[in-house]
Amino acid sequence: MRNPTTTTLGYALFATRWLQAPLYFGLVAAQGVYVYKFFKELWTLILMCLSGHATETYVMLAVLKLVDVVMIANLLIMVIVGGYETFVSRIGLQGHRDQPEWLSHVNSNVLKVKLATAIVGISSVHLLQMFVDVHHTSRHALLWGTVIHMAFIGSAAILAYMSGPMAAQADRGHADRSPAGRSQDEHPHTGRVPAAQPEAPEPQAPATTPVLPRQTSPDADAEARIRAAGFPVRKLLEDFDEQHPRGFDRETLARLGKAEFVAARRNVVLVGPPGTGKTHLAIGLGVRACQAGHRVLFATAAEWAARLSDARAAGRLDAELAALDEHPLLIVDEVGYTPFDAATAGLFFRLVAHRYERASLIVTSDRPLGRWDEVFGGASAPAMVDRLAHHAEIVRLEGDSYRTRRATSAWAD
Ligand code: ADP
Ligand code: MG
Repeated sequence: MRNPTTTTLGYALFATRWLQAPLYFGLVAAQGVYVYKFFKELWTLILMCLSGHATETYVMLAVLKLVDVVMIANLLIMVIVGGYETFVSRIGLQGHRDQPEWLSHVNSNVLKVKLATAIVGISSVHLLQMFVDVHHTSRHALLWGTVIHMAFIGSAAILAYMSGPMAAQADRGHADRSPAGRSQDEHPHTGRVPAAQPEAPEPQAPATTPVLPRQTSPDADAEARIRAAGFPVRKLLEDFDEQHPRGFDRETLARLGKAEFVAARRNVVLVGPPGTGKTHLAIGLGVRACQAGHRVLFATAAEWAARLSDARAAGRLDAELAALDEHPLLIVDEVGYTPFDAATAGLFFRLVAHRYERASLIVTSDRPLGRWDEVFGGASAPAMVDRLAHHAEIVRLEGDSYRTRRATSAWAD
């Protein structure tokens, strides 16, 4: 049992994070100053152009200055939104169409790297300004400008390196130390994390729940698993527009979103034409599985083929298949884009047969299972499809490609 006095003290300390809130509003005011500065510069530029005094170099320098102001403003919003979300309180932007992609996995490490890269961007604009205006820049200033820029690049690279593999390792070490290797927020009996918690606004924690500062978020283990899964991009089920596909089984998807199919060792097959969101859903389900405490590995069919044939060439295919058992969920994306030769088809058969009733697979394909003989050849396909589909949810997506109608927001890319 925790001592109530220390708990209260801890709560009181933790509550002081709200003292930071006004600081972020101060930064909003600073952002206002930059907006003013931007329009002042722009107005001067327009006047110069109209009066015919603007040389090409002048225009370029003035535009660079505008870019500079915008980049600093971007940096500010990153600090304001990211810092507030990380150190003060969740904003709950989940599902907002303009939610910056990085905000869904923001933590102090991500923030540091974002800031460092933003600073590199700003310093390169400054350097460019110096070179454009080289006749009015001293050699001394040029040299130091370049050296300082290099220092920014170096520190950004170091930060990025540290926040990647090292942070993941730290998180993993942390996961291994916690009782029975479970993350702290897992349910002790089911081993599952209460779903959708990370995005919900922070509830008032009961007095027995340990209060952790945001930096050592209880989601750190899930986050480490998500990072280790090798998703090409981060996609969430919450961001999937269920209205877009013409034909689509919402109930099945909602059920799969609970990630219970992983513990039940069932498979998921997502079938549909290109651009209908198969990869999106596969990643979204993978993220849910990570949040539910499962290790996940994502790769395309071609990448799995390469991995397995390397293992076979080294005479350790069985060992590789057994090692993959540590991942209760493997995702095989894009089955069908390229047909496989008989040897590779055989490797897939081994993978599917090995995991049959032992561990889960999510497979995405642009062609229905009935046409998999076109991919794997008539010899392997039927037996493989039989094992894959026996305990599987088949989700069919129908409709037009989302890519062709996607409206991008400035933040999305
Ligand atoms: P597929 O794997 O079926 O070819 P993707 O999953 O790669 O398609 O989808 C292409 C792009 O469109 C991705 O950026 C994905 O996030 C987006 N997308 C597709 N369908 C939807 C949807 N229904 N709602 C939101 N985004 C979608
Ligand atoms: Mg895809």
